Amino acid sequence: MEAKNKRVAIVGAGPSGLTACKHLLARGFRPVVFDAGSAVGGVWRRTLASTRLQTPAAPYRFSDFPWPEAAVAAEASFPRHDEVAAYLAAYARRFGVLERVRFGCRVVGAAEEEVAAWERWSGTGEAFGDGTGEWHLTVMSHDSGEAPSTQVHKFDFLILCVGRYGVAKLPTFPDGGGVPEAFQGRVLHSMEYSSMAHADAAELVRAKRVVVVGAGKSALDTAAQCAEANGRRYPCTLLYRSAHWMLDPQVAPRFKFSLLTTTRLGELMVHKPGEGLALSLVATMLTPLRWLIMKLREAYFKAHIPMEKHGMAASTSGDAAHSASAPTALVLDDDAMVNADVVILATGYDPDAPLRAVFTSPRFRDTIASSSSSDNNDAVLPLYRQCVHPRIPQMAVVGYAESGASVYPYEMMAKWVAHLLDGAVRLPGVREMEREVEEWTRWGRWARRSSGGFFLKSCIHAVTTWYHDLLCRDMGYSPRRKAGFLAEWTQPYGPADYAGIQ
Ligand SMILES: Cc1cc2nc3c(=O)[nH]c(=O)nc-3n(C[C@H](O)[C@H](O)[C@H](O)COP(=O)(O)OP(=O)(O)OC[C@H]3O[C@@H](n4cnc5c(N)ncnc54)[C@H](O)[C@@H]3O)c2cc1C
Repeated sequence: MEAKNKRVAIVGAGPSGLTACKHLLARGFRPVVFDAGSAVGGVWRRTLASTRLQTPAAPYRFSDFPWPEAAVAAEASFPRHDEVAAYLAAYARRFGVLERVRFGCRVVGAAEEEVAAWERWSGTGEAFGDGTGEWHLTVMSHDSGEAPSTQVHKFDFLILCVGRYGVAKLPTFPDGGGVPEAFQGRVLHSMEYSSMAHADAAELVRAKRVVVVGAGKSALDTAAQCAEANGRRYPCTLLYRSAHWMLDPQVAPRFKFSLLTTTRLGELMVHKPGEGLALSLVATMLTPLRWLIMKLREAYFKAHIPMEKHGMAASTSGDAAHSASAPTALVLDDDAMVNADVVILATGYDPDAPLRAVFTSPRFRDTIASSSSSDNNDAVLPLYRQCVHPRIPQMAVVGYAESGASVYPYEMMAKWVAHLLDGAVRLPGVREMEREVEEWTRWGRWARRSSGGFFLKSCIHAVTTWYHDLLCRDMGYSPRRKAGFLAEWTQPYGPADYAGIQ
């Protein structure tokens, strides 16, 4: 069967699923996209009223689809959640993706028996191996008003775009000291809170004693939401172990610190996976310079943001941790009590759970992302080019690796996968893929150590251009995307540089 006639399923219609579908359509495939929700946009369809992009709009976009003027009029523009959702929906409409999406369809099982021999990857180097493997997808659909129905669909290739923010990570409490045994107020995860209608979310916290657990983006958005609903009369309490604060956009853009991570010159200062001796020496020699720049940056922010004055100075280890609870109060590690009617757990997400949930049997679940805590805590998910598991044939992942502005790296992954499917990219053997994965794993461990442990799994932020270079070469494009030597080294890399890769 000709590759274009192969049956391809995409799971997820967030930014990564949309771009995966767009690039497959462009290369003549007719993929089917399943999404459990009722609209495209992924996480941007269930955010708090106060949520905005935390990265500027300029790098958070697809390479060939700029933002509408109105959304990016300000110099440093951070569009609102509804503007992001509208942008993603417009992209889906513009490229004919919308017609390919089946909403209200949750993939609850990909049966692996039919995809028997993983050596298929190495046998031919082609996406569809020897042409005999087949996925059986169990899809549960919720048509409005109808009871859920389950159907099994057959596909030749599976692309997982399920995101990292779909399954909540919940704290554990001592026996009998948790919810609802001890604490009788309302406790919910920030994901559940974000999914509520905005008016209901405001009502839930109105005139209540609210405790928000965590200090990440979701925690701060939730605190902002409480402030909006309650003003100064009922301030919410933020409980956290380690403080880190989002930068005020009015302060950040005056200095282009992002050049450190977006220019080739900046990238010279960090170690890169598989970099070779010369680049490794250069990175080592430039490490003190990078350290100095970071310290200057820290000093600048400390001088311009009155954190000390408001008792908000960031410390690496705070003294407040969630622990056992009493009927209307939380008890902290140091036995202090914090009264509460509502507790919102902004305690993060399990990034591997949405991937694991797709598979029927424990074998493939553990192959894609081990449930054992030591592997689970590894610095990277074992994916060749952040897309293909060496031991799971006829399947790719788009959108797992994190970057500073995630959309255009997802788009690059989608382009690479589309090239793979139509034969323009060929895979090396299983061993070679595993060797490359091991190199990235070693690098990830180093990156985690050198960032003091604050490193999201598979975060490629510091080496995004380096990663894109690999994809460009695989696809037969020059990784040098700028006009001239000076621009190549000093100009920031961003979405528009890759618009020519189709
Ligand atoms: C509050 C918040 C703010 C963020 N802000 C930023 C930011 O400023 N900058 C940035 O770069 N990133 C940000 N992110 C990261 C954000 O996740 C990405 O920008 C982007 O949305 C990820 O796209 P995705 O398509 O990979 O995943 P998602 O957006 O999570 O979409 C995944 C889709 O898959 C569907 N799905 C999952 N499992 C199944 C299944 N089994 N069957 C069917 N459908 C399924 C879901 O319904 C969902 O629609 C933020 C995330 C959150 C939660």
